[in-house]
Amino acid sequence: MRSARVPLDWDRVTVPRGSVHVIPHRCKECHFCVDFCPKDVLALSTETNAKGYRYPVVAPGKDEACVHCEFCTLVCPEYAIFSVEIPRAEVMA
Ligand code: SF4
Ligand code: SF4
Repeated sequence: MRSARVPLDWDRVTVPRGSVHVIPHRCKECHFCVDFCPKDVLALSTETNAKGYRYPVVAPGKDEACVHCEFCTLVCPEYAIFSVEIPRAEVMA
């Protein structure tokens, strides 16, 4: 029997998919985006930008893990990262 705590529209709820984008030259390697991502999508690069900072990249095996929550965008003090929602039709294709 279904728990009374499950929302009535649970069967129709879908988890969004996102594509995360980084602007490396803006990054200051504060690590906030890596720490706050709830899906552990991000890791710091091995290379550095022109200022000598490592910047976030998609971690190995996490290519399809972004859920477009935009936490990384919200916490980035340098406006260096953002996600774009992937339309459901493309996710299903
Ligand atoms: S949008 Fe959310 S899930 Fe995607 S990389 Fe940013 S914090 Fe992680
Ligand atoms: S939050 Fe912004 S500045 Fe900090 S590591 Fe991530 S992209 Fe770089």
